[in-house]
Amino acid sequence: MHRRDFFKAAALLYASKQNLFADETNVISDFFSKLFFNDEKKYVVLDKETLQKKEIILKQEQIKKSAEAIIEEESNIADNLQSEKTQLKSNNLIKKDIYIEDKYKNDFISVRKKLAAIQSYVGYGNFNITSFDYSLKIAKNVSSIGQFTKSELEFLESIFYYDPKMHGFYGERISKNITDKIDIKEVVKIPYTGHYLFRGHSEETYYKMVEDIGESMVLTSGIRSIVKQTKLFLDKLDSENGNFTVAAKSLAPPAYTYHTIGDFDVGKKGFGHANFTSRFALTQEFLAMRKLKYIDMRYTINNKDGVRYEPWHVKVI
Ligand SMILES: [Zn+2]
Repeated sequence: MHRRDFFKAAALLYASKQNLFADETNVISDFFSKLFFNDEKKYVVLDKETLQKKEIILKQEQIKKSAEAIIEEESNIADNLQSEKTQLKSNNLIKKDIYIEDKYKNDFISVRKKLAAIQSYVGYGNFNITSFDYSLKIAKNVSSIGQFTKSELEFLESIFYYDPKMHGFYGERISKNITDKIDIKEVVKIPYTGHYLFRGHSEETYYKMVEDIGESMVLTSGIRSIVKQTKLFLDKLDSENGNFTVAAKSLAPPAYTYHTIGDFDVGKKGFGHANFTSRFALTQEFLAMRKLKYIDMRYTINNKDGVRYEPWHVKVI
């Protein structure tokens, strides 16, 4: 027998005794290590093939490890993305526009009808200074209008007492109680306008403005009672599909208008609805108004109240 074959046969015999099924090379090197060193330690003689195999295993392990690292990293990225998504979602919820609650949808319709009927009944001018209690009385006594229901009153109160900061209106609360009245003795009707102003400072300011600017400037809105502002606000809500966020940018909620305490709006005679648009800022009347030191603009561009630019709204100072 050839010397090499002997070793191989011996190794195979050893392998069969050990019940090993490892590859031949390892079995042979193991056999010799046992033969010459006679201990349990395993000395692996690394021939070229084994080395290659080892390298392949090592590489596979490295690949496996880096694959695991990538998977972990990816799962972290996925987690972060998920939490960012959740964050965005909650931000959107805050930013999301506020609409009339479903439970008030019917009251919204019936209250608007009743307020319009009350305005027709008392007249456009008088409605500007009509109180909440007086409105309830009229509704109750005039059969074609009809008493306000419990649910309608609840709706009216919710519109008056809620906090509009929730939809981005940051103006100051002006009226504390829905039943606050305007004292008829404190107001004066401004002829040919359908509007009232408070006697004293507001009235004097207005007439001084007419004197300084000219007769082409007119009062377009004066004192507004809580009921009047409620009607205007509900009408605005209606035209904005029940969206409080949008409506309040161009009309203060009932308790938040300075019209209740002295501010007023002016316009150019014959300019119609354009008086309540930024086009008013292009009129001679507005340019003349800007030069007056005794008045100011309440809602400037980017005002902190969250109200649109209103060049026509005079802040009485
Ligand atoms: Zn105004």
